[in-house]
Formats: sequence, C-alpha cells, structure tokens
Amino acid sequence: MSAACIFCKIIKGDIPSFKLFENDKVFAFLDIQPLSRGHALIIPKYHGAKLVDIPDDSLTEVLPLAKRIAKATGAADYNILQNNGRAAHQVVDHVHFHVIPKPNETEGLG
Ligand code: 5GP
Ligand code: ZN
Repeated sequence: MSAACIFCKIIKGDIPSFKLFENDKVFAFLDIQPLSRGHALIIPKYHGAKLVDIPDDSLTEVLPLAKRIAKATGAADYNILQNNGRAAHQVVDHVHFHVIPKPNETEGLG
C-alpha cells in the first residue's frame, strides 16, 4: 500500500469506484474516463509502479480475470493494455491492465 496512491485508495474504499471484482490479490473496476463503454481496469492489490515490481502470484490472477471481464462485456473485439512509464503513457503509478471493448460499428461509441 502507498498512502499517496489513488489506486491504493480505491482498493481501500477511500475513493469510490464502480467495482467489478475483488479477491485477495486483484481488484477490478470501471475506468473513470472510459475510452469505450465497459472500459475496465484490473490492478494487483500489491502496490508497484511497473510490471517488474509485481510478484508473480499477483500477476497470474490478472489474465484469467481479463478474460472473464472481456467476455462479460459482450464485445467481440477488445484491447488488453498495460503501460509502464511516462514514455509509454503511464499516468497512474500503480500497475493496471486496461480492458477496452471495441464496440460493434452499429453502437457508435469508441
Ligand atoms: P494509464 O495512462 O496510467 O495507463 O491509465 C490510467 C487510467 O486510470 C486512465 O484511463 C484514467 O482514466 C484512470 N483513472 C485515473 N484516476 C482514476 C480514478 O480515480 N478512478 C477510476 N475509476 N479511474 C481512474
Ligand atoms: Zn498503489
């Protein structure tokens, strides 16, 4: 946990979020500025800025959950993204995986 980290505060419930899933290792919630409807974030509960900082036993929880969330959105197409460092467009320094559904053309969003 990092006292200054907004995602640690979300895990603790000090900052509200639309929670999708939680267990002892990971937490998933909707992105506050979604790139498309259903844009979700999956974070390890372990605080670390970059992928290399996170223990393997937390990371192994992430992909199966990404799969479940992607499936739950109903989108046929989607991106799973994870940014490390400013040059790679990371803004929040707590590792997070984006699940970004790509809407069907008829839906109009994204
Ligand atoms: P990054 O560019 O670091 O990979 O993405 C950070 C993501 O976190 C952005 O998509 C941004 O909208 C999201 N985000 C930042 N602050 C909050 C917040 O307080 N609540 C939620 N739900 N998402 C946030
Ligand atoms: Zn944190």
